[in-house]
Amino acid sequence: PAGFTPAPRKPEPATVPVLSRTWGQPESWTLAAYREDNGYHGLREALNLSPDEVIEIVKASGLRGRGGAGFPVGTKWSFIPQAPKEGGKAHYLVVNADESEPGTCKDMPLMLGSPHALVEGMIIASYAIRANQAFIYVRGEVASVIARLRRAVDEAYAAGLLGTDILGSGFDLDLVVHAGAGAYICGEETALLDSLEGRRGQPRLRPPFPAVAGLYASPTVVNNVESIASVPAILRNSPDWFREFGTEKSPGFTLYSLSGHVTRPGQYEAPLGVTLRELLELAGGIRAGHHLKFWTPGGSSTPLLTADHLDMPLDYEGVAGAGSMLGTKAIQLFDETTCVVRAVLRWSEFYQHESCGKCTPCREGTYWLVQLMERLEAGEGRPGDLEKLLDVTDSIVGKAFCALGDAAGAPITSSLALFRDEYIEHARLGHCPFDPAASTTYG
Ligand code: NAD
Repeated sequence: PAGFTPAPRKPEPATVPVLSRTWGQPESWTLAAYREDNGYHGLREALNLSPDEVIEIVKASGLRGRGGAGFPVGTKWSFIPQAPKEGGKAHYLVVNADESEPGTCKDMPLMLGSPHALVEGMIIASYAIRANQAFIYVRGEVASVIARLRRAVDEAYAAGLLGTDILGSGFDLDLVVHAGAGAYICGEETALLDSLEGRRGQPRLRPPFPAVAGLYASPTVVNNVESIASVPAILRNSPDWFREFGTEKSPGFTLYSLSGHVTRPGQYEAPLGVTLRELLELAGGIRAGHHLKFWTPGGSSTPLLTADHLDMPLDYEGVAGAGSMLGTKAIQLFDETTCVVRAVLRWSEFYQHESCGKCTPCREGTYWLVQLMERLEAGEGRPGDLEKLLDVTDSIVGKAFCALGDAAGAPITSSLALFRDEYIEHARLGHCPFDPAASTTYG
């Protein structure tokens, strides 16, 4: 809807390269290049402080989790028992690098371009939560990312940044890069932990949250790649510096991934609270001769938005105010050539395929969503199908074991709310009114 009131934010330039600053430079992934760019200075700062002081700094920065949910990072760290762990359980840091939300492609370039930002952030985080063992759980398909991470970890060990007595501080940390086997569900933090423990990746009931009982039932922080890679700059500069970007409740800068019918798809680093209109100016707008029909703010798990939302602030509060979610900031853009029914069908097929099968609402529900969506898209919808679609969706959302079920419902309910007429038009014509050849974003 028109009339969004943007949260007050400083008039910074639209792009703020901090995370992505060095990506275009030759061999930006090496330790030498990272050090040239003040790399590992944040770690030195952190090791001069107590673990609790590091947590306080991250809390003061207001950094929120970049995996999608926006949970405050410092608060999550503070849930880990602060008493020295002698006699108690070990603590673990696990970085969720199993990026797989449709349209989400920010953590992979980050790990390719500046893997040491992640390694440095992990050492700082492990020190803060008193963990001596950390893991990166990365998608198994992305061999180039795995190789680059392993090389960065080897370099860090060789330079005394990992292993025993890091930089003479007395702090020890081992870091393992673990490749998953390519399952969307293993990005769900508790399924990821099961998989890391060697079991089939299926979500656990929460609570207890991983901070209480995570890896090997021990206190574990699970954070997204971008969240952890944002930490070194906060330690190097200050929480106040971080708060100069973004809005009061959503401070800082972040990576927005633009894909689909946009002139220059890619990663755009900007302060939280930037608008899609501003991002599109940087990305050259919607492809020539076409106009925006609908878009996702954070991958297919977040309700669809339209051109009415071009001036909505892209921060956690702004997007929630429009009835959607910021999520992973995976902005997928679709122009008027796209059949919304077909796009939603493709996502439904994805959720059905990726449902782990542990709980009935998701396992059975996603199957029925695809059955209904297939016949609606083919123009073979029957009277009552739209109500049935909403009814099946209602049986999944809020009733499934984990967020995958809710995610499967988001594109269905939002597309029906925004484009009900298009669903009906399919049934009236007896076929899809769109020419698939005109659109380039769906199969
Ligand atoms: P959530 O809000 O339940 O939890 C977010 C984080 O906060 C978790 O780490 C959780 O352990 C922690 N947390 C929440 N409440 C807590 C408490 N009371 N005590 C301790 N810790 C607590 O969200 P979720 O189900 O973990 O994830 C959903 C999000 O995942 C969605 O926003 C979606 O955008 C995102 N997602 C991302 C990808 C990707 O590829 N990056 C893929 C699918 C979904």
